[in-house]
Amino acid sequence: MLHIGCHLSCAKGFLSMGREALSIGADTFAFFTRNPRGGNAKRIDREDAAALVELTREHGFAPLVAHAPYTLNLCSNRPEAREFALRTMADDLSRMRSVPGNFYNFHPGSHVGQGVDVGVEMIGSALRELLPQAGPTTVLLETMAGKGSEVGGRFEELRAIIDEAGGAGPDVLGVCLDTCHVHDAGYDVVSDLDGVLEEFDRVIGLERLRAVHVNDSKNPLGSHKDRHERIERGTIGVEAFGRIVRHPALRGMPFILETPNDLDGYAAEIALLRGLADGADPGGASPLSGSVAEGITSA
Ligand code: ZN
Ligand code: FE
Ligand code: FE
Repeated sequence: MLHIGCHLSCAKGFLSMGREALSIGADTFAFFTRNPRGGNAKRIDREDAAALVELTREHGFAPLVAHAPYTLNLCSNRPEAREFALRTMADDLSRMRSVPGNFYNFHPGSHVGQGVDVGVEMIGSALRELLPQAGPTTVLLETMAGKGSEVGGRFEELRAIIDEAGGAGPDVLGVCLDTCHVHDAGYDVVSDLDGVLEEFDRVIGLERLRAVHVNDSKNPLGSHKDRHERIERGTIGVEAFGRIVRHPALRGMPFILETPNDLDGYAAEIALLRGLADGADPGGASPLSGSVAEGITSA
């Protein structure tokens, strides 16, 4: 059974997200832990959090994939920006304890000209501080498109961060593979998915792969752009997504859509991908609605 959902707004609280997920056929979802630009977080309502935990158990959800604010940069050249990122992530991890057993995904950071090695060292040292505070939450590094000075566009860079973070196991520190990002980074998930996953296994180890962001891309392989597109409209294409959702190495993990979509559009993409996971022919009529493109284009 494919576990799939999409990015949801956290504005109405935890339980509301769980109900919204159910209403679109999802059995996992993603949410920003606070304003994505990194502002103050709302106080946690423990009853609301407990109600969501209950709902996810009752309905057999896969782990949820919380997303750190994308403006945080653990390898900024400004010490106060690094400190802010560390403090914000520590606060997020303490809040995640109210919904135990889920994932907290973050963008490794941009080295802003300091070089990949310096970036890796800064991210690794921040993780050495953060991971002992993660408790019941698994922290995930997201694979990046390699836009600008982003760290994490190569599997080798994620490996180096994991090594620098010092011996954390895959239940503490894992990786979330974003299909748009790896494609834009130059990994050919369209014509050589097996090869990409073999390389992931060789460099990082498949036991670290814990979640998938399932996004099509507006741009060609290796473009280093990071512009998400809806499933069926991008350069990865629906046949490749069929192979992705059916791949045995990815079985059982949460698949999260971050396509530019509204809820109806997400419901249609979830139905489409569930059909593909069951082996349905992608050549038939499209269940996607012509909904207005809005929302995330580069989460
Ligand atoms: Zn993105
Ligand atoms: Fe992503
Ligand atoms: Fe992301």
